[in-house]
Amino acid sequence: MVETLPQVTIGEDERLDLENLATGAFHPVRGFMTREETLSVAQEMRLPSGAVWTIPILLQLQERPRVGKGDQVVLTHREKPVALLQVEDAYELDLKTLSRQVFGTESEDHPGVKKLLAKGPYALGGRVEVLAWRPRGPLEKTPDEVQALFQQRGWRKVVAFQTRNAPHRAHEYLIRLGLELADGVLVHPILGAKKEDDFPTEVIVKAYQTLIEGFLPGERVVLFGLATPMRYAGPREAVFHALVRKNFGATHFLVGRDHAGAGDFYDPYAAHRIFDQLPPLGIEIVKVKAVFHCPLCGGIASENTCPDHHRERRTSISMTKVRFLLREGKTPPAELVRPELIPILQEGV
Ligand SMILES: [Zn+2]
Repeated sequence: MVETLPQVTIGEDERLDLENLATGAFHPVRGFMTREETLSVAQEMRLPSGAVWTIPILLQLQERPRVGKGDQVVLTHREKPVALLQVEDAYELDLKTLSRQVFGTESEDHPGVKKLLAKGPYALGGRVEVLAWRPRGPLEKTPDEVQALFQQRGWRKVVAFQTRNAPHRAHEYLIRLGLELADGVLVHPILGAKKEDDFPTEVIVKAYQTLIEGFLPGERVVLFGLATPMRYAGPREAVFHALVRKNFGATHFLVGRDHAGAGDFYDPYAAHRIFDQLPPLGIEIVKVKAVFHCPLCGGIASENTCPDHHRERRTSISMTKVRFLLREGKTPPAELVRPELIPILQEGV
């Protein structure tokens, strides 16, 4: 029967997200969004049901689809049928308006906008049924599996830490903060597509494993991955990241400076303020300001803990800086990144 249905080819990002829809990682979103859902999310940051949701989950197409409401479609990936889509809506997107609403800009210099525009102006919405799951890596667990692990360990308070990069000292500070607050920390790096200047996934995972094994209480930190692309939608993506981690069983979510930002597109604390405009999400947001090394505090500190010591003596910590030094053949100082991680990071620049 599958052979006789119309086929639609999907890309890597859509393959990942259709599985996230099916596992409940994107609960309460159950399918690729219809026009009504997309507009509601873009304009109101809500689903038509009223539930908060900030990022459209789209199945975009380059060409006008020849199917409509009520049709069944086979989604194929690399020429293999991977899912059935029950079409609820076939529609055209206003990509420029959508870019402005979701990313706050129409600039194609923004990696999220660039991708949205490149994927085409048509979309199919509807529920999906997975026919063939991707082979899952050891770090990829479903929300049910992760929640079961927390239960088994007796963790009632779990802080989730989202990351798209290898850990530097500021990331480590946030994880330690999570350990002070909760029974355990879920380190949950993005395994999907990222910008070219982010570290490759293998390097990120290896660096976290080394950090956790050598320097953190391993029985209170778990490392799993979230297979979805980065959108770089700043504040809106911070909310999306929090909602997804709630689905994985986290009770708290860390949001640092410029969460999910790209370049200078967002105010560094827009991703803190957005939560003030929204009703409680069922997950506590732990907002942390800029983290840096301060020689007068004598270590890693934040804008919340350093009494405004000489700013010029602070060392700001960023992966852009670490990568720049590594590319120049220099060794980043220990205030930026643990020396033990440098050989791993060198493989990824
Ligand atoms: Zn200080």
